[in-house]
Amino acid sequence: MNQDTPMLPSIEPATLEWREGQPVSARFGDVYFSRENGLEESRYVFLAHNRLPERFANLKAGDTFVVAETGFGTGLNFLATWQAFRDQAPSGARLHFVSVERYPLTSDDLRQALSLWPELESLADELCEQYPPLVVGNHRLVLASGDVRLTLYFGDALEALGELTFEADAWFLDGFAPACNPGLWNTSIIEQIRQHSRPGASLATFTAAGYIRRALADAGFAVQRVPGFGPKRDMIRGDLPPDGQNTGDGNGSILVVGAGIAGSLLARNLADRGRTVIVADRGEAPGTGASGNAQGALYAKLGVQFNDQTRLSLAALLHAQRYYPANTPRVWHGTGLLMMAGSEHERLRQQKFLQQNEYPDRILTPVSAEQARSLTGVPCPHGGLWFPGSGWLEPYRLCTTLLDHPNIRTEFGFRATRLLPCNNRWCLSGEGRQDLIADAVVIAAGHETRKLMPVLGEFRMKAIRGQVTSLPSGALTATPKAVVAGTRYLNPPMNGLAVTGATFDLHDSDPQERLSSHQENIAGLESMIPGLLSCDDLASSVSGRVSFRCTTHDYQPVVGALVNGDGRVLDGAWLFTGLGSKGLMWAPLLAEHLADCLTGQPAALPRSLARRVDPKRCLAEPVDTGVPVG
Ligand code: SAM
Repeated sequence: MNQDTPMLPSIEPATLEWREGQPVSARFGDVYFSRENGLEESRYVFLAHNRLPERFANLKAGDTFVVAETGFGTGLNFLATWQAFRDQAPSGARLHFVSVERYPLTSDDLRQALSLWPELESLADELCEQYPPLVVGNHRLVLASGDVRLTLYFGDALEALGELTFEADAWFLDGFAPACNPGLWNTSIIEQIRQHSRPGASLATFTAAGYIRRALADAGFAVQRVPGFGPKRDMIRGDLPPDGQNTGDGNGSILVVGAGIAGSLLARNLADRGRTVIVADRGEAPGTGASGNAQGALYAKLGVQFNDQTRLSLAALLHAQRYYPANTPRVWHGTGLLMMAGSEHERLRQQKFLQQNEYPDRILTPVSAEQARSLTGVPCPHGGLWFPGSGWLEPYRLCTTLLDHPNIRTEFGFRATRLLPCNNRWCLSGEGRQDLIADAVVIAAGHETRKLMPVLGEFRMKAIRGQVTSLPSGALTATPKAVVAGTRYLNPPMNGLAVTGATFDLHDSDPQERLSSHQENIAGLESMIPGLLSCDDLASSVSGRVSFRCTTHDYQPVVGALVNGDGRVLDGAWLFTGLGSKGLMWAPLLAEHLADCLTGQPAALPRSLARRVDPKRCLAEPVDTGVPVG
């Protein structure tokens, strides 16, 4: 690592020089797009030579067209593609754009570069609004109300192509000129491009270099040299042979068991993709289990080591921070969150964390006790880490809002007894109710999940009791204006009550609210923020709520295909649980990922992270999955 390279997870940004208002890469000494007219060049080289306008026009409702690109740069190609898709494709068709970038532009540079194209302004604004902070890894952006998805991997192209799961219909090969940037044009990259292509996929690139033409032909593309844009004499386009198969996404119905945060987010995600979804829950309304608290904080505990576990938490946190404000603004409160260094152990942990990692300020910054007090409005005795993009949600209202969609049918009060395969479909029976039948099923029933899994074998999942306490504002000496998290968390009050908690009671199945749990929460809060509580004997007069979170032996979520005790996958059956006490953080990204798996779309999780949540790892006697344990 050289001295100018930031520490992980930050990624080195592009260094731009602006020549006559046009961006040029100082590192590669090359232009991002033609000086003549970048937008026209993009339309000519990449769109026209992949025949995108006509292929978009020929799509049908329910189809998804996948474009992949090497070198996201300013996002001009992406926006030109999005614009053509918007103008040509029929309603109900979708675009998925996968791109990789080793040196991403800062958001200020991105805005400046895209301001060159007034006709793309509204699309550029939406992109800039969602553009991720500059950290390594995969970022999923859901744009145009879900009609357009962008999978943007910040990192080296070869690493990205090894990590991402997708098949493209068209490729834009747009690294800088091969002579300035040979790393983006070698045979390993071309082999990956081939592997990530559907039959009949096309490609286009501005270069006409002979060795690239030959490498593409060796990989199986029928390659042509055609006239280039403007002063460029020629360029390359190519096609893979078609196989005559219909690659439609399928449109089977999906049954989701569980209307908590996991089930509701997944159901909504699938419904927005045009799928028919049935949601069944034993409760009489959504979110009656662990997702039923009036308030919940959005936070992640990021590890000192930037390993796969931390990468996954970070990706989930950033996705959730994009998802809630854009999709459920009425139940989202973006107040910011303080992770207080409330003990010597946590202070040392945060110190090490800051020494070993570099996070953009947009994600987190260290703050002193004084800054913490001014940011949160309460007498914090210590500083800590401030997460400006976090905050709190109303989980119960979140679930209700999400399930209100014409493609979702809800079956409340459905006490499921048995789930069985029948004629290549799945059938869920419930006490005194008609069976529910669908093409695929997802069990997202929290700690009840294991009971419904129609498989043998022991799975390492457990329920953890948690009781929260609602404190009347009058019992506080100061009003919190941001979430404070530490040994306990405290939310800003809503309707005169601030939720604090929660207890973490292993091997405890008591569903009743207990005085001792309120005492524990109150004592925990008092020692975390001394002087915050205005009276002594609060525990006997407060109310609260008990629920059970589902977690696993390794405290990581469970998302993927359901397996039998012998590791065999059950077709069409999936699991979505194990979110522990961090459902608000995990669920948006994991719902996106599971919906990708169910609909055969490019996956939101890179392979190394998908492996971490695979249900197979929960088998008490692990089977040989053929996958190295990451
Ligand atoms: N498509 C872009 C647009 O619409 O603005 C222009 C792409 S620019 C010509 C090439 C891009 O490839 C640069 O942003 C550069 O940082 C990126 N790049 C170069 N080497 C790379 C690598 N090994 N992996 C990923 N991206 C790389």
